[in-house]
Amino acid sequence: MTPTSKFVKIKCDDCGNEQVVFSKPASSVRCLVCGKTVIECTGGLGEFKSTIVAELE
Ligand SMILES: [Zn+2]
Repeated sequence: MTPTSKFVKIKCDDCGNEQVVFSKPASSVRCLVCGKTVIECTGGLGEFKSTIVAELE
């Protein structure tokens, strides 16, 4: 699933924590609970390492 909007809600595959993240992060984003990398910075659209549960406008 490729996100098209700027903000998406993701669910950490490891601990189930849900958080809202920017889909084009300037740096890799970690889960706020367990510290797992949930999005890797690629310079463009981030590479999602977690489950996208919703896209936000
Ligand atoms: Zn987690």
